[in-house]
Amino acid sequence: MKIKIPSFLKIGGHDFRVVLDDTSDGFGRRAEIDYKRLEIRIVPNKHHSVKSQGLIHELVHAINLIYLNRQIDTENIIEPLAEGIWQFLEQLGIEFNFDELTDESKQ
Ligand SMILES: [Zn+2]
Repeated sequence: MKIKIPSFLKIGGHDFRVVLDDTSDGFGRRAEIDYKRLEIRIVPNKHHSVKSQGLIHELVHAINLIYLNRQIDTENIIEPLAEGIWQFLEQLGIEFNFDELTDESKQ
Protein backbone atom coordinates (compact mmCIF):
# COMPACT_ATOMS: atom_id res chain seq x y z
CA MET A 1 0.00 0.00 0.00
CA LYS A 2 1.52 3.28 -1.09
CA ILE A 3 0.86 6.23 1.18
CA LYS A 4 1.40 9.63 -0.39
CA ILE A 5 3.25 11.96 1.93
CA PRO A 6 1.47 15.33 1.77
CA SER A 7 3.23 18.70 1.63
CA PHE A 8 2.10 19.48 5.18
CA LEU A 9 2.02 17.19 8.20
CA LYS A 10 0.41 18.21 11.47
CA ILE A 11 2.41 17.30 14.57
CA GLY A 12 0.91 18.62 17.77
CA GLY A 13 -0.76 21.89 16.79
CA HIS A 14 1.86 22.67 14.16
CA ASP A 15 1.75 22.26 10.40
CA PHE A 16 5.18 21.18 9.21
CA ARG A 17 5.95 21.73 5.55
CA VAL A 18 7.58 18.65 4.02
CA VAL A 19 10.00 19.04 1.12
CA LEU A 20 12.71 17.11 -0.63
CA ASP A 21 16.02 18.91 -0.23
CA ASP A 22 19.68 18.33 0.45
CA THR A 23 20.28 18.92 4.12
CA SER A 24 22.84 21.32 5.48
CA ASP A 25 25.71 18.95 6.18
CA GLY A 26 25.01 16.29 3.59
CA PHE A 27 27.05 13.37 4.86
CA GLY A 28 24.93 10.37 5.73
CA ARG A 29 21.90 12.46 6.53
CA ARG A 30 18.51 11.30 5.34
CA ALA A 31 16.38 14.11 6.69
CA GLU A 32 16.26 17.02 9.10
CA ILE A 33 13.64 19.00 10.97
CA ASP A 34 13.62 22.77 11.42
CA TYR A 35 11.39 23.87 14.30
CA LYS A 36 11.76 27.59 13.56
CA ARG A 37 10.61 27.28 9.97
CA LEU A 38 8.33 24.30 10.73
CA GLU A 39 9.92 22.34 7.95
CA ILE A 40 10.98 18.73 7.43
CA ARG A 41 13.52 18.24 4.67
CA ILE A 42 14.10 14.79 3.20
CA VAL A 43 17.18 14.13 1.11
CA PRO A 44 16.18 13.03 -2.40
CA ASN A 45 17.94 10.29 -4.38
CA LYS A 46 17.99 7.78 -1.54
CA HIS A 47 16.17 4.45 -1.47
CA HIS A 48 12.54 4.92 -0.48
CA SER A 49 12.98 2.85 2.68
CA VAL A 50 15.81 5.14 3.77
CA LYS A 51 13.72 8.26 3.13
CA SER A 52 10.77 6.66 4.91
CA GLN A 53 12.76 5.79 7.99
CA GLY A 54 14.29 9.27 7.89
CA LEU A 55 10.85 10.89 7.89
CA ILE A 56 9.79 8.81 10.90
CA HIS A 57 13.06 9.71 12.63
CA GLU A 58 12.21 13.42 12.29
CA LEU A 59 8.64 12.71 13.43
CA VAL A 60 10.00 11.10 16.61
CA HIS A 61 12.18 14.20 17.16
CA ALA A 62 9.09 16.41 16.80
CA ILE A 63 7.03 14.25 19.19
CA ASN A 64 9.93 14.39 21.64
CA LEU A 65 9.96 18.21 21.49
CA ILE A 66 6.24 18.93 21.30
CA TYR A 67 4.83 16.24 23.59
CA LEU A 68 7.75 15.13 25.75
CA ASN A 69 9.55 18.43 26.40
CA ARG A 70 12.77 16.85 25.06
CA GLN A 71 12.87 14.08 27.66
CA ILE A 72 14.73 11.95 25.13
CA ASP A 73 18.15 13.55 24.95
CA THR A 74 20.02 11.15 22.69
CA GLU A 75 19.93 9.93 19.11
CA ASN A 76 20.62 6.49 20.58
CA ILE A 77 16.95 6.35 21.60
CA ILE A 78 15.40 8.38 18.76
CA GLU A 79 17.00 6.24 16.05
CA PRO A 80 15.93 2.75 17.27
CA LEU A 81 12.41 4.06 17.98
CA ALA A 82 12.22 5.32 14.40
CA GLU A 83 13.64 2.11 12.97
CA GLY A 84 11.20 0.01 15.02
CA ILE A 85 8.18 2.03 13.92
CA TRP A 86 9.29 1.91 10.28
CA GLN A 87 9.94 -1.85 10.41
CA PHE A 88 6.45 -2.39 11.83
CA LEU A 89 4.83 -0.35 9.03
CA GLU A 90 7.05 -1.84 6.33
CA GLN A 91 6.14 -5.44 7.22
CA LEU A 92 2.49 -4.51 6.68
CA GLY A 93 3.36 -3.56 3.11
CA ILE A 94 3.19 0.17 3.71
CA GLU A 95 5.37 2.26 1.41
CA PHE A 96 5.72 6.00 1.61
CA ASN A 97 5.47 7.83 -1.68
CA PHE A 98 7.27 11.18 -1.87
CA ASP A 99 6.21 12.15 -5.40
CA GLU A 100 3.93 15.00 -4.31
CA LEU A 101 6.65 16.87 -2.47
CA THR A 102 8.44 19.87 -3.91
CA ASP A 103 12.07 19.02 -4.73
CA GLU A 104 13.94 22.11 -3.58
CA SER A 105 17.33 20.63 -4.41
CA LYS A 106 16.48 21.32 -8.07
CA GLN A 107 15.74 25.02 -7.52
ZN1 LIG B 1 18.05 12.64 14.78
